[in-house]
Amino acid sequence: AHLKQKALSSYELCEAAIRRHEAITKLNPFIMSTHKLAQESASRSTERYKKGKPIGPLDGIPIAIKDNFCTAGIPTTCGSKMLQNYTPPYSATVVQRLIEAGAVIVGKSNLDEFGMGSGTIDSTAGPSRNIYRSGINYKLQSTVRYPTSGLADGDWYVTGGSSGGSAVAVAAGAAFGAVGSDTGGSVRNPASYCGVVGLKPSYGIVPRYGLISLVNSMDVPGLFGRNVDDVATLLSVVAGEDLRDSTSVPSNLQNLQLPEVPSIEGLVVGIPREYHSAGMSQEVVDIWTKVAGLMKEQGAQVREVSMPHTQYSIICYSILNPCEVASNFTRYTGVEYGLRNESGHSMEAMYALTRSTGLSEVVRGRILAGNYFLLRENKERYFNQALKVRRLISQDFEQAWSSGIDLLLTPVTLSTAIRYSEFVKTDNRSQAADQDICTQSANMAGVPAINVPVALNLDGLPLSMQLMAPWGHDASLLSTAKWIE
Ligand code: GLN
Repeated sequence: AHLKQKALSSYELCEAAIRRHEAITKLNPFIMSTHKLAQESASRSTERYKKGKPIGPLDGIPIAIKDNFCTAGIPTTCGSKMLQNYTPPYSATVVQRLIEAGAVIVGKSNLDEFGMGSGTIDSTAGPSRNIYRSGINYKLQSTVRYPTSGLADGDWYVTGGSSGGSAVAVAAGAAFGAVGSDTGGSVRNPASYCGVVGLKPSYGIVPRYGLISLVNSMDVPGLFGRNVDDVATLLSVVAGEDLRDSTSVPSNLQNLQLPEVPSIEGLVVGIPREYHSAGMSQEVVDIWTKVAGLMKEQGAQVREVSMPHTQYSIICYSILNPCEVASNFTRYTGVEYGLRNESGHSMEAMYALTRSTGLSEVVRGRILAGNYFLLRENKERYFNQALKVRRLISQDFEQAWSSGIDLLLTPVTLSTAIRYSEFVKTDNRSQAADQDICTQSANMAGVPAINVPVALNLDGLPLSMQLMAPWGHDASLLSTAKWIE
C-alpha cells in the first residue's frame, strides 16, 4: 500500500508533501497548513524508524484534517467567521487516534462553511479548486501531458464538497490521506470529482467526538486515500468505540487487511433502478453499465433491484438536515466561545447580531428553515413526516439485503466535476440538491458507502462508482472496491 511504502524517511516524505503543497497553493486545499508542527513530528518519526520502532501503521504519513474536526492547540474554524478565532483545547477522537498511530498532520483542510454545501466554494478561506484541468499534473511524477483548463479566465472545476480541501489535498499529493465528514455525501462527492477514494464508514463505527456537529444522526467521519488499501489502513486506525460518543460502537476493524487479490466470485450486486435519475449524464450511465458488466464477467451475479423511496431522499434530507442544524446551532451565541458581537443593547440582540455577523446566508437559511419545520404547528407535518420517510428509505436497503443482495453499485454524482461558473447558476449553492441524489440515502440509512475512481472521460475528468453495503460490512465493501480499482 502507498501509505506503507517507506522508501523515503518520514522527514523526506513530509518535505515532499510540503513541496507539493507549495506547488499547488492556487488550489487552496488548506484553511491553515501546519507545516512547522508537521516537520517536528516527522523528525521524531524518522528517529523512531532509525531505532526500528515505528509507533503505528501511519508513523510518518502526512495526513490532512478537515477543519471541522477539533485539533488541540490548532485553530478549527469550520470555514466560518463564527469560529475564526476558535482554538479547541482538545482533539477529536479521530485526530487523536491518527496521531497515536504516528500520522503527521500537515493541514486543516478547506470546506463549505460548517459542511453545508457541495462545492467547497463557501468558506472564509475562499474556494478550493479541482486539480483536474487546472494545468497542474495530478500524477506526482508524470511525464504525460494532461489536458489543461481551456476554461474562461477566472473559472475552474469545483472540487465538490463539502470536504473538497481534503479531496484535492490527496489528489494533488499535499497529503497521503485525509479525514473528511460525510452527512449527505460530503466525502464521496468531492472524492468523485477529484478522482480519489472516499469512504463513508457505517454510522457509529468511527466516533464523532470532536467533529463539530452538523446533523448528529447522519454525520460520519470519512476517509480519503489515493487507493483503497490506504483507506483501509486509515479505517483500521480510527474505527472503534469511544465512550464520549454514545452512538459509537465497538469494531473489529483494528486488524483490517484486505486480500491481495480480492475476488467477487458469487457476489450478488444490486443495481437500484431508481438511481437512474433524471439529469444523469450519458457517460456516467455508460461507465455504470460497463462496471456492472465487468463484475458479471468475473463471476458476480448482477441484479436489478427497486428502492422505491429513493425519490424522496432529497426532500426528506432537506427537512431533517435543517431541523438538526437549528438545534445544534443554538450553541453559537457569542457567550462561551467563538465570535461575539456586542453592539446591541440586550442579550437577545447579542445572540442575533453574533449570528448575523458570524454566519453566512446559507447557514442562517438552514437555521430559519429548521426552526420553521419545528414550530409546534408544523412539526407533525414536516419533521415527524420526514422521520417516517427516513425509515422507509432505510427499509429499502433492508429489503435489498434480505432479497440476497450483498452490495449495491451506483454512481456517486450525476456528472463529472462541474465548472464553477455552472455550479453557481443552479441551486447547488445551498446544498446541491440534485447532485446529492445518489449519496444522501446512505446517510439516512447509516450504511457504509465508498467512492471508487474508475476512469477519466474524454475531457480528462475523473469518473467514479459508488458501492454501498449493509451496516457493519465495511471490510467487504472495501475489498470489492479494491477489486474495482
Ligand atoms: N450537500 C449536502 C449538504 O449541504 C451534504 C453535506 C455534507 O455531507 N456535509 O447538506
